[in-house]
Amino acid sequence: MSIMEIFETMAYGPAPEASSLALAWIKEHEPFQLFINNEWTAPAAESYFESSNPATGKGLTKVAAADKADVDKAVSAARKAFPSWSKTPGHVRARYLYAIARHIQKHARLLAVLESLDNGKTIRETRDLDIPLVARHFYYHAGWAQLMESELPGYQPVGVVGQIIPWNFPLLMLAWKIAPALAMGNTVVLKPARYTSLTALKFAEIMQEVGLPAGVVNIVTGEASKAGEALVNHPDIDKIAFTGSTEVGRSIRKATAGSGKKLSLELGGKSPFIVFDDADLDSVVEGVVDAIWFNQGQVCCAGSRLLVQENIAERLINKLRARMENLRIGDPLDKTMDIGAIVSPGQRQEIQNLVDIGVKEGAQLWQPSTACPADGSFFPPTLFTNVAPASTLAQVEIFGPVLVTLTFRTPAEAVEIANNTRYGLAASVWSDNINLALDIAPKLKAGSVWINSTNLFDAACGFGGYRESGYGREGGKEGLYEYVKPAWLAAHHGRSGGVKAATHAGEQMEASNGNGAVHTDALEEFSATDAQDGYGFPPIDRTPKLFIGGKQARPDSGYSLTITGPGGRVLGEVGEGNRKDIRNAVEAAHKASGWGGASAHNRAQILYYIAENLGAREAEFARRIVEQTARSYADALNEVRTSLSRLFSYAAWTDKFEGSVHLPPLRGAVLAMKEPIGVLGLACPDDYPLLGFVSLVAPAIAMGNTVVAIPSPRAPLSATDCYQVFETSDVPAGVINIVTGEREALSKVLAEHHDVNSMWYFGSAEGSKAVELASISNMKRTWVNYGRGRNWLDRVQGEGEEFLREATQVKNIWVPYGE
Ligand code: NDP
Repeated sequence: MSIMEIFETMAYGPAPEASSLALAWIKEHEPFQLFINNEWTAPAAESYFESSNPATGKGLTKVAAADKADVDKAVSAARKAFPSWSKTPGHVRARYLYAIARHIQKHARLLAVLESLDNGKTIRETRDLDIPLVARHFYYHAGWAQLMESELPGYQPVGVVGQIIPWNFPLLMLAWKIAPALAMGNTVVLKPARYTSLTALKFAEIMQEVGLPAGVVNIVTGEASKAGEALVNHPDIDKIAFTGSTEVGRSIRKATAGSGKKLSLELGGKSPFIVFDDADLDSVVEGVVDAIWFNQGQVCCAGSRLLVQENIAERLINKLRARMENLRIGDPLDKTMDIGAIVSPGQRQEIQNLVDIGVKEGAQLWQPSTACPADGSFFPPTLFTNVAPASTLAQVEIFGPVLVTLTFRTPAEAVEIANNTRYGLAASVWSDNINLALDIAPKLKAGSVWINSTNLFDAACGFGGYRESGYGREGGKEGLYEYVKPAWLAAHHGRSGGVKAATHAGEQMEASNGNGAVHTDALEEFSATDAQDGYGFPPIDRTPKLFIGGKQARPDSGYSLTITGPGGRVLGEVGEGNRKDIRNAVEAAHKASGWGGASAHNRAQILYYIAENLGAREAEFARRIVEQTARSYADALNEVRTSLSRLFSYAAWTDKFEGSVHLPPLRGAVLAMKEPIGVLGLACPDDYPLLGFVSLVAPAIAMGNTVVAIPSPRAPLSATDCYQVFETSDVPAGVINIVTGEREALSKVLAEHHDVNSMWYFGSAEGSKAVELASISNMKRTWVNYGRGRNWLDRVQGEGEEFLREATQVKNIWVPYGE
């Protein structure tokens, strides 16, 4: 084509990136081995699988397929390396991370080409986005390694971490996992996705170059059913970090339930891209391109649902179609391409299947006239209109370049449709009215909200989901907590050979309550006064009911449970709650969700008021504790006073556990807001009947959640005595709901309930496992004690940031600005 012709047509010429160096590197290493203890190690079974280039369908190389024996070897290398790596000074770890970042930059071009060859994504994206973000992640976390000692006092590394990553951002996901793990002093065994192992193996080579101590990072390539499952089930792994499909996340939750392994899950999404009628539509069109055609739509937070205000829908769709006609799809190594190949023929077929279902369900399909390359796994950019909100297309994650469009009329309707999904990973809001955009952002159930922008990521800004998009955050300070545990917990309950786990609630009480001995004289002292009430009459019978929606409610079962003290003396009766009562309580808790919108000052006032009213009755509450536990009066009074102090602590925290403003490298700011999780189920411990109850309820409500609490079944009367305290302290109806009864059965109902957003459980080891298993239904967050005791009197163990973090989730709202 002559220069004149090019001027006329403005057609792109080819701009190929050379692949010769990457191909030579591949050839040199073929077949790729496992990276264990800083050595290339052949798989025990001598088994290899083929990795191919999605853009051509042709084989690239052979990669080792690890099985259980190899995973065992890698885990033991990581275990062996842990004591010394975890004690390596932060500054030294920072130097290693810094060196890794530098080496990533030195090999940036090779890594970018390898990623394009192996994954099918365009070189434009690997070169300009994936690899720079990888380097940034290591630089950023070098900083946290340096600062860990001063900024995270009282925390220790978790131990040996198993990490499983997907194929859509192979090296970037590796960086998201490995950088914080190493910064916090953990050692790692990482399994890449089987389609995309090559950049992880190049990364292994970089580990050798920087001289990272042997065993700190181990890479086991292989298939899910062998390497992946062996890693998840390995008894010497302390934490699993996973990114991938919600379905596999669910199975990992199931496999690890009750094991005590820490777990973070970054799962799927169906993120809304909301366009109001005052938005700049040309910017919106470019935003949509980035939202759904970036990385061929194989992005967990892809803006796959376009919600557009009805009055501009037609105009926007026309502009979008015109833009789609100009998207270039083809060879990922051509620098002028917008869209590359889908990772595998199987994934391509999955996309096609969902598109076919969409057409069958009546949605209207539109694809541009530009042809896809015939070889390789390409799929054209696709637009659906006339999509029903409940249809498969609108609900199921397609994980391909397929955009579905829905319309709305009012902001309220936009929020409703946006939240009408089981996921909650991300959302974009487009409007030139910043008041409107900032009003909508907090209402969206999503971990990241981008205003007039989309798919922005940075190491300083935590990323992660609400609801079935998983739990845990990656990036930012919040992401670090996934890789540490409180030092007191590590000292008392190291997973390997730590303190014996108490299996029964009773054991727990004895284990952690230093004053567990029965004081019979205290019992006698009170039985005399109680039996006759000082006047020679029997005491007036008080049978507390349940506390639901601010009122005392009879249990549905119509049955009561008799509560006896340690001497066998009958103390009273409480209602025996059942499934129906829990449902009613959850409904009441939802109705009270306005509590989350109350000002922090207001919530603090109410916590102080509860303390005031409880304080006025401290002798009575102490007496009740003595009756139920036969501890000394002085000890019981100490429990009441500690409960008062705890209420004061959380009243203080309401307006001090704040979010932050991150400063990623962009013109703008990112507001990291700590939001309540929603409705929390709380199963309270047996030790310290009042303090255990207050220690869970207070942080939960301080942060704006509403709760359904199951008091200690052995000593529920301290909690039921609080009804009147709550009623006189202006606690809005439904904010605190209390259902007495059998802890295990009621906890299971709460953990299974789809409208409960998180479940805290402090009971037995078996009960903890049952809660983790039951939580799979809607992938709710859980916080359980695995039957281990905790000293509730101790401020380090019984209150503070650990509780507040469990009571909140972080939403990052990206606000770019400038003309
Ligand atoms: P998976 O969730 O199956 O795979 C992600 C990673 O987990 C891979 O390393 C995989 O190994 C591994 N894995 C799979 N099953 C297990 C298991 N039981 N135990 C341990 N490890 C396991 O994603 P797919 O690649 O199969 O993609 C399927 C769908 O998942 C996509 O269509 C998309 O909808 C979604 N997805 C979502 C992602 C996200 O970021 N949210 C990322 C990738 C996929 P292996 O590669 O060997 O199978």
